[in-house]
Amino acid sequence: MLELTLASGNSHKAEEFKKLFLSSESSLSVNKSPKQIDVAETGLTYAENAYLKAKAYYDAFKRPVMSDDSGLDVRELPGELGVHSARFGGDGLTDSDRVNLLLEKLKDFPEERREATFTCVLCFYLGPEETFFFEGKLKGKIIEFISGEKGFGYDPIFVPKDVKLDELKTQGIEIKGLREESLTLANIPSWKELHSHRAKAVNQAIKFFKERFAKR
Ligand code: IMP
Repeated sequence: MLELTLASGNSHKAEEFKKLFLSSESSLSVNKSPKQIDVAETGLTYAENAYLKAKAYYDAFKRPVMSDDSGLDVRELPGELGVHSARFGGDGLTDSDRVNLLLEKLKDFPEERREATFTCVLCFYLGPEETFFFEGKLKGKIIEFISGEKGFGYDPIFVPKDVKLDELKTQGIEIKGLREESLTLANIPSWKELHSHRAKAVNQAIKFFKERFAKR
């Protein structure tokens, strides 16, 4: 079993990771860090920021670390969100302020110009000579209104591209009177758990380490 410390203070992410690793029969376990460290996210890419966070936690605790950096890239606002998604609009805003700001900025854009992609990059920092990266993406669009209360960040305005009401019904996922255009991540947490950018990156990592352990 490879025990990793999670280099993140975001409790929503910690919760998602906990479920993702528990629900798989993996030989990885991820635990919250005993202490949080402030890391300046000065990287230009998700991978650079994930590396900065992982290294800072490894240097502090000398234990294998898993970090993630994630964000939302909005096609019509290049460079505005992305690695800056958590700070979009400046300091002092809440998740809900940022959601409203994004809706305002996109208000004159028709549906075909509201494409957006979530990305998650994981960095496994097992030691200075051993770092591994995994990436997951989720494509979709920003709708024109807020819908749903679960999740965090931009979940209430993001509808994934490949989600279909009929499929959700057959998978037994609760959709309580929702229409196709309101299928935001904040309305379908159990779908998000299986298909999010974070889930895709985690599944790749699990597969990689499974094969690695099998060779030993
Ligand atoms: P960071 O990875 O801590 O730099 O933060 C990434 C930011 O991207 C979060 O604060 C959210 O605003 C946004 N984000 C990343 N993943 C998600 C997600 O799964 N749902 C909604 N927003 C997300």
